[in-house]
Amino acid sequence: MTVVDAHTHAFAPEQLATRSAICARDPAFAEIYGDPKAALATPAHLLTVMAAEDVDRAVVVGFAFAHADDLALQNAALCAAAEENAGRLLPLVSVNPQLPEWKETAVALLERGARGFGELRPHNQGWDPLGPHGHALCDVAEAHGAILLWHVSEPLGHAYPGKAGGIEPIELYALAASHPRVPMIAAHMGGGLAIHLQMPEIRAALPGLYFDTAAFSLLYDDSSVARLVGLAGVGRVLFGSDYPLLSPRRQVQRIRALLGDEVAQAVCGDNAVTLFSDADDR
Ligand SMILES: [Zn+2]
Repeated sequence: MTVVDAHTHAFAPEQLATRSAICARDPAFAEIYGDPKAALATPAHLLTVMAAEDVDRAVVVGFAFAHADDLALQNAALCAAAEENAGRLLPLVSVNPQLPEWKETAVALLERGARGFGELRPHNQGWDPLGPHGHALCDVAEAHGAILLWHVSEPLGHAYPGKAGGIEPIELYALAASHPRVPMIAAHMGGGLAIHLQMPEIRAALPGLYFDTAAFSLLYDDSSVARLVGLAGVGRVLFGSDYPLLSPRRQVQRIRALLGDEVAQAVCGDNAVTLFSDADDR
């Protein structure tokens, strides 16, 4: 089956080499990657794992750095890797809409082949997703057919590094409902947002919302993926590993065992192929 990993992370090689210096200037990066045991990967590492673990394509996302130089270095590495490996990597680059000229930067990245923006962490960067920056980002996405991937965390449950700082489920609902033409991916099973899709007006308000399974096995019980498929619909759930936190193969095997081959084929590949090829037409 075609396997698309819809949530992976990679950084420029220079960023792996200068990790402690980045931690010193970027508190959000330090919270997640300050522990030297927290894995960091380059696009080359990701491509090696994809080849070894039968992953055909991967959505590779950026980090919500505070500073323009850190954003630029990572975004350039992701776009270059995508150019060199045509079709295998789908970059969602990172921007900080509080920086001057962020919009020009964002558009230039889309013209270079970025497919959208992620992993968005507005509260880490200090902007209100429901304020002018959030709406401006959605307007850029709509104008260019870009996809937005948001770090969503459940308001309850155990803490983990990086849990807070993304977007709250209720904020994502309000933003997605205001921009129904912008496809958005709610990472980490959407932090519980999917349960509200049982209310017809909520479902109707979110025609462009998808959910990924990144790191679900560290957060939720095994039945959660089938429940999410039931709540959101089989076409709205995307397999994501959160590589290098978890390796893709075991997650794919787990999802196949939990959902059966037919549904797993949609979740682990077909849905992402459709979402990203539709994005070509927007
Ligand atoms: Zn995340």
